[in-house]
Amino acid sequence: MKPLFDLGVLPIRHRTSRGFKPHVSLVFNSEKRLTFAVDTTNSRSQQPDAYLITHAHSDHHGKSAMLSDRAVCSQETARALEILYGKEYAGRTFKIGETINICGVDVKTYPTHHTIGACAFYWENDAGSKILVTGDVKDAKDLPKCDCLVTEANYGDPDDPRCHFEDDIGAFREALSDPEDIAFGAYAFGKAQRAVRLVRESGYSGDIGMDPVSRALTEGLMENTGTLVDLESDCRVRITTPGEIPGLQTAKKFILTGRRDYKFPTINISDHMDVNGLIGMVKQCAPSAVITYHPGGHRPLKLAAHLNKTGYYARALEEINTVIEI
Ligand SMILES: [Zn+2]
Repeated sequence: MKPLFDLGVLPIRHRTSRGFKPHVSLVFNSEKRLTFAVDTTNSRSQQPDAYLITHAHSDHHGKSAMLSDRAVCSQETARALEILYGKEYAGRTFKIGETINICGVDVKTYPTHHTIGACAFYWENDAGSKILVTGDVKDAKDLPKCDCLVTEANYGDPDDPRCHFEDDIGAFREALSDPEDIAFGAYAFGKAQRAVRLVRESGYSGDIGMDPVSRALTEGLMENTGTLVDLESDCRVRITTPGEIPGLQTAKKFILTGRRDYKFPTINISDHMDVNGLIGMVKQCAPSAVITYHPGGHRPLKLAAHLNKTGYYARALEEINTVIEI
């Protein structure tokens, strides 16, 4: 932990009677002792100074954090949370790229191209250390250099073949060029909007059928979607959740995913970078300490171990033993 101590960053985990709260909180600035909670649930007993919500996927817990007036997220993330959960967002919003002042700290925001509204947070503490929290990342090209990097590790195991992939845009276009009816299985938030963009970029300008939630998110968050209609409408292309794919009367069906455990053919379209992308991001950001923090399971440990072997100081969230009971 010494490099983190020297940088003036104390990563902590909170534990309640029900176990660890998700994700990490960062404590910094010796005088004011600020705490920014990253993608964690709203706390009744102990409030951090800010809930940073990187994006609206459910495993980043905006559903509960959005109800706090200390929540901070992009305008698009707030809109997505309201559509997904039917509740009013209670916190502050910003346009990605803007700098916001949180408790006297200027926090810059950068796009991570993972979902609409997904962003990274970046600030400098009173020790002069630059801290970057990535959230989930599809493309790290806009992220700055930093001293302390808190990075996701969704595909962080270099020894796992499933963590090595590239998007197969060619297979997507080929599937779409078939004149038969086609349905793409894609999660409602993130993947579905990526699919609509890919369909339009491929030159298909007809109606796209979508389930109500995917359609509401797409219409609420995207411009130039073309005409979107109900799933039951007469159309050649449909985009809906993987769970609805088996029940559709469509000639061709594909799931857009990097996973390999579906019954239907898959096309590798991911909202994430693979492990080489993650390692490339670390090189680009050139930190002196790395914390790998998401998702659960062994991948943050594997990524941290690999980074340690290649000369970085890295710790997975699971290895952080500063725990506060609340
Ligand atoms: Zn995500």
